[in-house]
Formats: sequence, structure tokens, C-alpha cells
Amino acid sequence: MKNKQLIFISFMALATLLLLEGYLLQNTYKLKTELYRRNTVKSVFQVYNLPFADSIYWEYRNDLKNHLKDYISNKISKEELQYKFEINNLKLNPTYLSFFSNEISKLTDTELEIKVSVNELVLSNNSNEKDTLFSENNQVFTILGHTFNDADGILINTSNWTEYLKSDKLYPQFNLKTNIIIKIPELYNDVLTEIIWLFVISLIIFLIVVVLFYYSVSNLLKQKKNSDIKTDFINNITHEFNTPLSTIQISTKMLLNEQVLHNPDSIKSTVEVIDRQNIRLQKLLDRVIERSLSKDGEIILQIQNVKLSDYFNKVINDFELTIDDKGIVIINSIKDIEKQLKIDPFYFSIVIVNLLNNAVKFKGNMIVIDFKQSNGNDLIEISDNGIGIPKREHKLIFKQFYRVSENGKHNYKGLGLGLYYSEQIVKLHKGSISVANNKNGGVSFTISLPKK
Ligand code: ADP
Repeated sequence: MKNKQLIFISFMALATLLLLEGYLLQNTYKLKTELYRRNTVKSVFQVYNLPFADSIYWEYRNDLKNHLKDYISNKISKEELQYKFEINNLKLNPTYLSFFSNEISKLTDTELEIKVSVNELVLSNNSNEKDTLFSENNQVFTILGHTFNDADGILINTSNWTEYLKSDKLYPQFNLKTNIIIKIPELYNDVLTEIIWLFVISLIIFLIVVVLFYYSVSNLLKQKKNSDIKTDFINNITHEFNTPLSTIQISTKMLLNEQVLHNPDSIKSTVEVIDRQNIRLQKLLDRVIERSLSKDGEIILQIQNVKLSDYFNKVINDFELTIDDKGIVIINSIKDIEKQLKIDPFYFSIVIVNLLNNAVKFKGNMIVIDFKQSNGNDLIEISDNGIGIPKREHKLIFKQFYRVSENGKHNYKGLGLGLYYSEQIVKLHKGSISVANNKNGGVSFTISLPKK
């Protein structure tokens, strides 16, 4: 499975876990609230049904009956009747409230309020004519209990009480609809307190999983990066061994040439080339050892001040030996430029030799190496008159293993690593590398280095 898929699946699993945990917690919260509510309601009914409470309701009922009788015999008006109800409440409520809080505290620690309220009181006579004294449309009034807004409470019971006003069961009769509403001010807080530990533990476990997930993924990516860097390095270094080896091979062949053998200057310069390539091989080997020992396999540059012209003279000179008999012209315009460059000469020469090798490989027979300055940057330009690169491929050729193909076929040997590695090295120098088409065919590669 690819890394991206693995990360995606792990991430989705984590998100599902979070959703599931959230869902379970929410359900637990709902169930706990329901259970808490049920237990509280049970306790309220226990108190509500106690004989003493019943006696108060009876007293209230009798008073109510008497007032209603006064009302139907026109002794008191409707307004006076309503006023009497209020008086009733004032008379009985203090006893009821203290009884209620006393009894309820024996059953539960929950802080509670109760309200028994009227939402309809209707009188009807023999011919079934109705006189509505209170209705839901009127203001609901409290018979007994606390005063609070209905919307803040829970309706736990509705009762309908019908009774004749006269003992002979003759009309008029009255019908009283009452509601019992309770208010648990701390309901949500109490439930939350009960399940908070569950929430905290779930959160801790989730965080542990997230941290583990993060470490696993970052370790995986680090390992992948390290192994990529190492593979890259092995690929590139193998590539880099070719140039000095073939230069030495050509130079030793030259030493066997009769003309060279009789010319001490030629012998000297050829031996110098062999010596330089030997040093280069030694350095390559050192870098292999150094990289295999380094922890994360990163390239560490050893930046030096080098004289531009000397440096390029040597690199191009050595390169020329490898293409000796191919009739290729190299115009080195850097030859006489007095300028210092801050580079890692070893790694930088890998970039230059890569570009020169490509110029030759892709059919260039005239290569121009130039130096310019623009916007405070040092520009090194290597142009050829080879087969060129279609514009749409310009960005792609710096990608690892990318090679331009024609009708799906690769006509030139290669691994597609040279430019990728070259760009990495230039970037380590805080520079950039780009490519452009030449007017008369071929391409120009430009390395831009910030002026130090
Ligand atoms: P390689 O040369 O090993 O294939 P590179 O990374 O050096 O890999 O180059 C990638 C591709 O870019 C090459 O395969 C080639 O198609 C194209 N390319 C690079 N340099 C040139 C050039 N000077 N002229 C034409 N095509 C080039």
C-alpha cells in the first residue's frame, strides 16, 4: 500500500473513531439524563402521593368548591372568584412548599421545584352550557408549589377533575384541568458531572491515539525519506563514478600513444588529469563513506571560495578528454573571468559535468559555457545545439526518473536522474536551475546562484 493511501486510511479510521466516540458519549449523556429525570419524577410522585400532601389538595378543593358555589349563586363576581383562588394559594402554599422540600430531600439530593397549576376551569349547567372561568388562553395560575416559567420545567402529569357542586350529583358541575410540572435547575450540570470522567478518559485515549498516529506516520515518512535519499545517493554516485573512470581510461590509453610518450609536456598534463581524477575518485569514495555514516543521509556541502576561471578550466579540460574523438567544440567563455564563486567544488562539478554530458548525449556538437550577472545573481549558462526539449517538458525533466520520450519510446540511454540530482545540489547552494530553448535549436541550462 502506498504511503498516501496508508495515511488516508489511518486518518479516516481516526475520524471514524472520533465520530463513534462522540456518538457514544452523546448517547450516554442522553440515557443518563433520561434515567436521572425518571428517578427524580419517581421521587416527586412519592411525595405528591403522601397523605399529608393529599390533605392539602383536599383542603384546596373544598375551598375551591365553596368559592364556586358562591359564584354560581351570584354572591361573588368572576374577578372576586379569581382573587379567592389567589388567597387560597397564599394560605396553603407555604405549608405545602416546606412539606415538599422536607420530604423530597429525604429521597433525593437533586435540587427541585414543583408546580401544580390550573390550565382550565369550566362550569357547566344542566343544559350543558359552559362558563369558562380559566382556559389555556388565560394566564395559567398556580394552585400550589413554586413559581417558574412552564418552558423551564418538565410536564410530568396532567389530570382532569370533574365534580358536582351539589351533593345530590346535580348540575352544575365543574371541570378542573391541572398540570404537574417540575423544574430541575441543575439537571444538565448534574448529569455532566456524572459523565465528565467518561468524557475526560475518552479524550485522553483519543489524544494518545492521535499522538501515536502522528508518531507512526512521521516515522514512516522519515524512514521513507531516508531510504529515498539513500537510494538517490546510490543511483547518483554510481552515475558519478563513470566520468573519472572513463577519463582515467582515456588518459592511460593516451600515455601509450607514441606521440605523447615523446612529448614530456603531454605526459605531464595527462598524468595531471589522471591525478585529478584519482583525487576525484577518492573524494567520491569519501562521500560514500561519509553519507553511509551520517544519520539521515543528507548532503552536507563544504563551501569554498573558488576562482571561477580556474575551476571551469579544470572541469572542462577533464571533460574534453572524455569526448576527445567526437568532433565536439566547447567554447568556454568563462576562461578569462576574474571572479570568485562560493561553492562546494566537488558537488558543483557533478552538476556541470551532468549538463555537459547531456549536451553531448543529446546530439549537441557545439557547447557554449558562459557567465553573466543579473539582478544580483551569478548566472552560469551551458548551451548546446542538440535535439532540444519541447517546452511542455521543461518543468518535468527535473523530476526523478523523468526522460523525454518520442511516441512513447526512449531513444537515448539514461536513468532520468542527472537533472534531478543536479537541481538538488543547486538548491543546496540556495540557487536555482532552469532550461530554455535556443533560437536556432538546442537548449540552454542556466544555474543561478545568489551573490554572496
Ligand atoms: P538522463 O540524461 O540520464 O536521461 P537527466 O535527468 O539528465 O537524465 O535528463 C532528463 C531528460 O531530459 C533526458 O532524458 C532528456 O530527455 C532531457 N534532456 C536533458 N538534457 C538535455 C539536452 N541538453 N538536450 C536535450 N534533452 C535533454
